[in-house]
Amino acid sequence: MSLTKRKNADLWIESVSLKSLADKYGTPAYVYSEAAIRHQYQAMQSAFGQQRHQICYAVKANSNIGVLAMLANMGAGFDVVSGGELERVLRAGGDPKKIVFSGVGKSVAELDFALKLDIHCLNVESHAELLRLEERAKLLGIIAPISLRINPDIDAKTHPYISTGLSENKFGITPKAAIDLYAYADKSEFLSVQGIDCHIGSQITELSPLLEAARFMLDMVDHLQEMGISITHLNMGGGVGVNYLDEKPFSIRDYASSLVKLLENYNLDLLVEPGRFLVANAGLLLTSVEYLKPASNPTTGRNFAIVDAAMNDLIRPALYQAQHRVEQVSALDDASALTTELNWDLVGPVCESADFLAKNCTLKLEQGALLAIMTAGAYGFVQSSNYNSRNRAPEIIISKDETHLVRRRETINDQLALESTFPCTLP
Ligand SMILES: *Cc1c(COP(=O)(O)O)cnc(C)c1O
Repeated sequence: MSLTKRKNADLWIESVSLKSLADKYGTPAYVYSEAAIRHQYQAMQSAFGQQRHQICYAVKANSNIGVLAMLANMGAGFDVVSGGELERVLRAGGDPKKIVFSGVGKSVAELDFALKLDIHCLNVESHAELLRLEERAKLLGIIAPISLRINPDIDAKTHPYISTGLSENKFGITPKAAIDLYAYADKSEFLSVQGIDCHIGSQITELSPLLEAARFMLDMVDHLQEMGISITHLNMGGGVGVNYLDEKPFSIRDYASSLVKLLENYNLDLLVEPGRFLVANAGLLLTSVEYLKPASNPTTGRNFAIVDAAMNDLIRPALYQAQHRVEQVSALDDASALTTELNWDLVGPVCESADFLAKNCTLKLEQGALLAIMTAGAYGFVQSSNYNSRNRAPEIIISKDETHLVRRRETINDQLALESTFPCTLP
């Protein structure tokens, strides 16, 4: 499913033109499509067919409460990694019984919050965390439902910064240590063994590492069974890759049917924690050209298009060498301004050479031209910052011909509200 379509020269998202959004809300702005998110959710739901399963959306991919409310409404559960995300899910109407809590550094306050809410499960990532959780549960008089996150030492074949299932990564527990911790948890009065989980990386495009991880996890389930410890659910994490430029990710049907087949002889609930898969291609970042700075020597120099979005709005290109497709949003006003296509580097106003959004985009541009940076629905706004004291962009959800401003543009007063000067005295 394609997020946008062209009507004459203009780019539309559902029944709203992007030009009209830029006129009304300004740029830069994040725009998401309700239909596109629903489409991905339903594609995943139906791929699992009759298999008992729960989709727990990984909130960190896009945590706008408008997006969360939409997913909660479709029956999604949630995977959270902080107390803040847990609060967001509650405000969006998410069901605590469908929440799992991941992350290597859960604080005492976060553990207590999750325990009191009676969430579905805590995905424990270390021996020390298990002991702290047991202590908190005992203090509160609550039995903590747990899963252990296994680090299966499998190469997800993705960017090193988003690879999480290798022994060199900080995530999860080694299989050997996990066996001992399961034995410990099984005897504890305040811990209740529910599941086993893994998450080997993000933007995975090859199926084999995920299936290798699944087989590995099921071998552990067998081993635990022999020890008299029964596991209720297998949580395979997220990681399903999407198409940014010309990646060829595996299909969700193939992944789901392979998992279902592996689970055939097990009485297990399947959990998955997709983030990127549900939202990446449902969003774009709308931006406009401030200045053109073509190379003075066309054979050696680079052509820079300075746009009003920057690395503080979308850090993926700078952080992960990520590439995003760039689309022209509407016809140029002045067709004579620059009629030949050039290879442009799209850069922002931030004072860093890493401040680029795309390189080598073949486009016809003029000052004021509107552009859409595609596949920006995941790990876009959520990783934005106020670097260079820039106000963060608004977020807009399009639902057919309706426009919902689900986060307004920040103002400088928003930024300064938490700060103060102090009376300086002369030395
Ligand atoms: C980030 C994360 C996810 C989601 O990953 P995607 O690649 O966006 O699907 C799922 N589970 C855990 C534990 C994560 O840290």
